[in-house]
Amino acid sequence: MIKNEIKTTCSYCGVGCGIIVKKDMNNKVFVEGDKDHPVNKGMLCSKGMNLHYVANDTSDRILYPEMRWSRSHPRERVSWDTALDRAANVFKSIIKKHGSDAVAFYVSGQSLTEEYYIANKLTKGFLGTNNIDTNSRLCMSSAVVGYKKTFGEDSVPISYDDIELADTFLITGANPAWCHPILFRRIEKRKEENPKVKVIVIDPRKTDSAKFADLHLQLTPGTDVVLYNAIGRCLYKSGLIDEDFIKNHTQGFDGYKEVIFETTLKQASKICGVPAKEIQKAAEMIGLSKGFISMWAMGLNQSVIGTDKNTSLLNLSLITGQVGKPGAGPFSLTGQPNAMGGREVGGMANLLAVHKDLGNEEHRREVAQFWGVDKISAKPGLTATELFDALESGKVKAVWIASTNPLVSMPNSHQIEKAMAKSKFVVVQEISHKADTLNYADLVLPAAAWLEKEGTMTNSERRISYLPKEIEAPGEARPDVEIFCDFAQRMGFRGFNYNGAEEIYDEYASMTKGTNIDVSFLNYDRLKNEGTFQWPVNEYRSKGTPRLFEDKKFYTPSQKAIFNVPSTIENTSVKTNDEFPLILTTGRVRDQWHTMTKTGKVARLKTHYPKPVLEINPVDAYLNKIKDGDITEIKSANGVVRVRAKITDEIKEGVVFLPMHWGKVLNSNLNRANNLTNTHIDPVSKEPDFKFTSVSVSKY
Ligand code: SF4
Repeated sequence: MIKNEIKTTCSYCGVGCGIIVKKDMNNKVFVEGDKDHPVNKGMLCSKGMNLHYVANDTSDRILYPEMRWSRSHPRERVSWDTALDRAANVFKSIIKKHGSDAVAFYVSGQSLTEEYYIANKLTKGFLGTNNIDTNSRLCMSSAVVGYKKTFGEDSVPISYDDIELADTFLITGANPAWCHPILFRRIEKRKEENPKVKVIVIDPRKTDSAKFADLHLQLTPGTDVVLYNAIGRCLYKSGLIDEDFIKNHTQGFDGYKEVIFETTLKQASKICGVPAKEIQKAAEMIGLSKGFISMWAMGLNQSVIGTDKNTSLLNLSLITGQVGKPGAGPFSLTGQPNAMGGREVGGMANLLAVHKDLGNEEHRREVAQFWGVDKISAKPGLTATELFDALESGKVKAVWIASTNPLVSMPNSHQIEKAMAKSKFVVVQEISHKADTLNYADLVLPAAAWLEKEGTMTNSERRISYLPKEIEAPGEARPDVEIFCDFAQRMGFRGFNYNGAEEIYDEYASMTKGTNIDVSFLNYDRLKNEGTFQWPVNEYRSKGTPRLFEDKKFYTPSQKAIFNVPSTIENTSVKTNDEFPLILTTGRVRDQWHTMTKTGKVARLKTHYPKPVLEINPVDAYLNKIKDGDITEIKSANGVVRVRAKITDEIKEGVVFLPMHWGKVLNSNLNRANNLTNTHIDPVSKEPDFKFTSVSVSKY
């Protein structure tokens, strides 16, 4: 018998599907897609439809705080008072001795907005350091910089509803058929109903998204900027540009024109490994469309030139005037459920809350005044890779890791292991005993999971949802906001005595008033009673804002969108050579999520891609004497992986692929793709270069 039902949002990807959760008399939950939800209209992908297994299975949950007094002792159960007093004492003592920058927080795009907000307020406002970064650095930071450089602010211009109004889609560096399935269903449906709709996919792999496309440009990894510029060149030469839009609403076009004519189509074709006529064809499809949407994800962002890839792609929307109108615009796809919400509250080392800039003195003063503190430090915080470098060098002594598993997800895992081992004090705030990070924790704090706490999240299209609490957390697990606020009070800080998540949301919402992300007209009551809203939600747009820039006024000082010229069209990753002749790219598989601490619990999600395999082209397999199913050893300058080979012509010659989800399996770390990846980062976005590592492959 069903006791009650609630509406909530899926806790996996940034699509943000609506879910109805039903609970029986034994408190077991069931899930189904919410037919009334504007995002998924009742559909759920394999991960979403199996969420109840994760919610009902508490077998791996951390139930009470655990602590060790020294590294030579095992961790033991302690009370919350003992745990948080110790955390506060250690943080106070390190700050007194080494200064505020000797401590750091590393949080997650899976954190709720209220959690992100409090962690930022605590760190930047009260601990006196900007050392708080997030795993969103690993997926979104290049897109953030791209939007800021082009539109003046981190602003996704469009909605999913624009999909049904578009007639050409360019999907690049993304495989939404697997990674954003419900979004992709909407594109499939759009094409089924309108066969003239065109889909172009740019990817070195023949993914399911590429197989669906009208045109697949199978480029050589790292050559994206050259390819987008070549498309821009073809658009210009064919007269398929919007001169009026360029003249009246953009700046920097002359510099862009110069750059796109520096490389001929023939040269670009050779560099990218894509036939010139396919580049020309893509330009025609884009240039002749009435509504052009570009979509991208990690293939662009996770690159040493991620910022340049982003701005070069955004230039294609500007040259065609395809922004601020129905069915048109650039659309970055977020991998995590609340990557947008985290950015809104300043959840990165270089940001401040409500999209204010850490580098701007007036912004720092405004935020400090709002929080009632003397000042915000002007020193930029350490970004993800910099933070772990600083732990390894001893510059940072204590780190607090919440809701993320860097031992598997960060590049160059062996270096992360060394950094964690060298840290003086590691706090891990987690739900699962399976998180590899726990091996290094001095203090483990059990956190409440999805359905066990309330709060809000923002999906990829700026849509804010309220997630209610429906079940009790097991054991002594507590919501993350409670843990952060309790710690802050034990540190002696004022301003953390909230009566629940709603008060935190209200404080944040009041802080947004008058900004471009104003949600001062949105509160928990409206979210509970009226459903989801896209920001801004203010006195002029009390029902939210599905599309930005319809007035063609952008957030730059000139109110014009900016053509950015790439600092280099060359991929500056470490090149292949005789020792490491192949390019390794990494990514996700359809039914797994991040480091599998949740999806790894669901048996039926293991059938699609049960074990990590190396995808390798038949030519490379032949040259390296590898047969299908052989155990292969993949080596890079950083480490080794041993997995079976899957020979497939779905991957381009010269490129191999490994899935990124697997960490330690049966005490072996040899499945872990990030043993191999390098720590190079984009100089502006500081996002790591996961998609390009030179490797060798041999039969083991
Ligand atoms: Fe959840 Fe994303 Fe699947 Fe929707 S598409 S059900 S948000 S994982």
